Amino acid sequence: MPRSEPIKAVRGVRDLLPRDRPLWRAAELAAEDVARRFGYEEIVTPLIEHAELIERVGEDTDAVAKELYRFEDRGGRKLALRPEATAGVVRAYFEGHLNQEPQPARLYLIGPMFRYNRPQKGRYRQFFQLDVEAIGSASPALDAEVIEIAVTWLHDLGLGEVRMDLNTIGDAKCRPAYLELLRAYYRPLRDKLHGDCQRRLETNPLLLLDCKVPQCQPFKADAPRITDHLCEECAAAWAAVRRLLDAAGIEYHLDPYLVRGLDYYTRTVFEIYPAQTGGSQDALAGGGRYDGLAEAEGWPATPGVGFASGLDRVTEMVKAVGVEIIAAPAAEVLVLPDAELEIAAAEVAHICRAVRSVAVDYEAKSLKAKMRSANKLGARWVVLLNAEDAQQRTVQLKEMASGDQVAVPWDDLPARLA
Ligand code: AMP
Repeated sequence: MPRSEPIKAVRGVRDLLPRDRPLWRAAELAAEDVARRFGYEEIVTPLIEHAELIERVGEDTDAVAKELYRFEDRGGRKLALRPEATAGVVRAYFEGHLNQEPQPARLYLIGPMFRYNRPQKGRYRQFFQLDVEAIGSASPALDAEVIEIAVTWLHDLGLGEVRMDLNTIGDAKCRPAYLELLRAYYRPLRDKLHGDCQRRLETNPLLLLDCKVPQCQPFKADAPRITDHLCEECAAAWAAVRRLLDAAGIEYHLDPYLVRGLDYYTRTVFEIYPAQTGGSQDALAGGGRYDGLAEAEGWPATPGVGFASGLDRVTEMVKAVGVEIIAAPAAEVLVLPDAELEIAAAEVAHICRAVRSVAVDYEAKSLKAKMRSANKLGARWVVLLNAEDAQQRTVQLKEMASGDQVAVPWDDLPARLA
């Protein structure tokens, strides 16, 4: 029988190894800390949802149209791995009756998302997002609030050098008339646009502004801008968001071409990039208002605003800018027993664990080799245990940094290590 190849991880997904986790943990802790400071509470929703929930709210987006992990379970239910969190969080807000509590519900979630895209650096098929949502209020103050959370989180991680693009896309009241203006502008140019844009001209003209294909670029500058065609309410909200950001000292770059292609998105849209770059590939975070989403899911009309940020990209950038994350050692104390002293070693470890993290090196190898491991693991102390000491219920306690070594009775270890 030929030996089979070892089975490797699925394409586009990665392991986060112990050596990766301190940086990730720092990013997660910073997110949790910012969320707490702004009064946001954690929510956890399932990784699987009815495919219909995801498809209904995202039919036109790549994340859903081309990239959805869709499957049937053994009961024949059509399910999907979530490609983003908002649809599920809004569903949970209603199913969990958060809509009956004081509004808005301020929620955050950290977890994996799944998209069947072409994997490359910064783009994975399973990736992690910090998702922040304020549901149940139309106040523009919440648009500014979630933006401030995103910026503060990145800042706390040492990523102060970011660029935020900001725009508004109006609402159901003013957008239809604007879209007609946009169509009227682009129709005479139709033959000069690339295929997708020719099609979108009638179905979803807002996306023409977002197009990155070179042949479509020359026409954007003269296209009508929605900011000149907002209804009174949207204009007031747009002014308020900018005033609030100015007051909070948050810089932004007005980008009239930043749009979302789905009807339920309203008013504020924003994206955050590393300062020196552009292009959707590098976005660290993106978000906006989605006042029509709840209704699209079949729930009562309820406004909401939020953002999602990719932890994979954020941690990669933290690494790139050289912010140092000091990893705690796996164990502060390493017990190094001589052969056949496993039971005594386990008892010593148990005693030390009252005050420190402790591991035991049970491997049969020389003391020298064990000390090498202790150094590599970054232990602050080693506890040397031989048969004679074990009988006396003492150990040799060695502090790695100073090299100082003293005999210590077992029961005194917590006091010595505290
Ligand atoms: P989106 O939901 O597409 O607006 O994405 C929000 C954020 O999630 C982006 O700004 C990225 O930081 C991150 N992100 C999206 N797709 C991926 C992916 N395939 N791999 C890694 N990060 C991603």
